[in-house]
Amino acid sequence: PDLLPACNGEITTMSFLQDVVDILLQYVVKSFDRSTKVIDFHYPNELLQEYNWELADQPQTLEEILLNCRTTLKYAIKTGHPRYFNQLSTGLDMVGLAADWLTSAANTNMFTYEIAPVFVLLEYVTLRKMREMVGWPGGCGDGIFSPGGAISNMYAMLIARFKMFPEVKEKGMATIPRLVAFTSEHSHFSVKKGAAALGIGTDSVILIRCDERGKMIPSDLERRILEAKQKGFVPFLVSATAGTTVYGAFDPLIAIADICKKYKIWMHVDGAWGGGLLMSRKHKWKLNGIERANSVTWNPHKMMGVPLQCSALLVREEGLMQSCNQMHASYLFQQDKHYDLSYDTGDKALQCGRHVDVFKLWLMWRAKGTTGFEAQIDKCLELAEYLYNKIKNREGYEMVFDGKPQHTNVCFWYIPPSLRSMEDNEERMSRLMKVAPVIKARMMEYGTTMVSYQPLGDKVNFFRMVISNPAATHQDIDFLIDEIERLGQDL
Ligand SMILES: *Cc1c(COP(=O)(O)O)cnc(C)c1O
Repeated sequence: PDLLPACNGEITTMSFLQDVVDILLQYVVKSFDRSTKVIDFHYPNELLQEYNWELADQPQTLEEILLNCRTTLKYAIKTGHPRYFNQLSTGLDMVGLAADWLTSAANTNMFTYEIAPVFVLLEYVTLRKMREMVGWPGGCGDGIFSPGGAISNMYAMLIARFKMFPEVKEKGMATIPRLVAFTSEHSHFSVKKGAAALGIGTDSVILIRCDERGKMIPSDLERRILEAKQKGFVPFLVSATAGTTVYGAFDPLIAIADICKKYKIWMHVDGAWGGGLLMSRKHKWKLNGIERANSVTWNPHKMMGVPLQCSALLVREEGLMQSCNQMHASYLFQQDKHYDLSYDTGDKALQCGRHVDVFKLWLMWRAKGTTGFEAQIDKCLELAEYLYNKIKNREGYEMVFDGKPQHTNVCFWYIPPSLRSMEDNEERMSRLMKVAPVIKARMMEYGTTMVSYQPLGDKVNFFRMVISNPAATHQDIDFLIDEIERLGQDL
């Protein structure tokens, strides 16, 4: 209404935005207050009744707009809350938030240097640094920030296919043999999604067996590669996982690299969750062999706590992404511009317009240094070990797999008193299956904490605790356990 670009809109704009900032600051500060709820949960039909969310013909006043902001945040989940453990992306970093605000204010698009000069350079600098940490000499190679790990994994599959059969770009799948990809049974579902989207088909993703800790078994990988070749299929990609989503397992990358080399198959490492450990001198050995990968997915929006979204795909061979994806749109990528065109990186992407995701990571890295990320990650791993030690022999708990967690995933069943002396039979299983969902539902209704659960294979619902929230402390872990027992003892 009276906001810019309206004539003399400066004062109204400043005071409106100041009010918005005040609302946001209050929200941010409250997020860290343990006496506030993680969520003010309402069932969808209730929440629809709580407020008038409908769009209307008539404009609202700025006062009403501010009320919309307050109401939206009132029912939002406080992802920075020290007791929010529900996802792999948790926590709210102050510098990251500032960087996100700046990014929104700059409101530009990543396709060319022309319209994103600083951001394009920062993407170049940051991706090179990440490749250095992967272990590629001098940080050489290529890469891009993509809209999440699932898309990064799909990029890897697309580029691996192009490397082997470049003609697929023009001629399509009908001109090439049946391709097959390999990944572990604990890998992320996005590998299959990528295969479906690229016309490879989910049946062509062969799931390799894992050991009891959730790590891919290399001998099974080799067996399945040979089997596929015998059938006349062409193995083109192995997607190893560094930090599986549920167990936090690291596949044996060196053994997998040897097999990929032997059979000349593209090695991708999905380090969406585990990639952050490259920042830690204490834990990076878990990714030994990653330097032999042809491509790597690494999500700074998970373990490194960068605000959503921030996911990188790194590729060892330079130029491949460009050849694979470029379409030379002449209205964007004019070849007679007056600067070095290698900085027009947009044609590497599948997207046309691309959001600026790099600035949050870059500014946080400046603020913390590598050692700051390292300290943050080491602390989360230490907390996971504290939780593991606390419950491994505690009455009423069973671990889903034995041994110290490799990542911050701690998977366990809480066994309520009524089930503790029961025989391990079907009735116990079907009752245990219901325990985690009921406790979780109660957590959300009280709004005290949130943690995830799932079944996996033949295992009934178990809790998967993950810690990526730098605000969490030992007391918050203690609280979680007390809360599970308080909410679950009558089940
Ligand atoms: C989270 C995750 C992904 C997907 O990442 P998004 O950013 O959510 O798309 C892929 N792989 C693994 C191992 C993950 O944990």
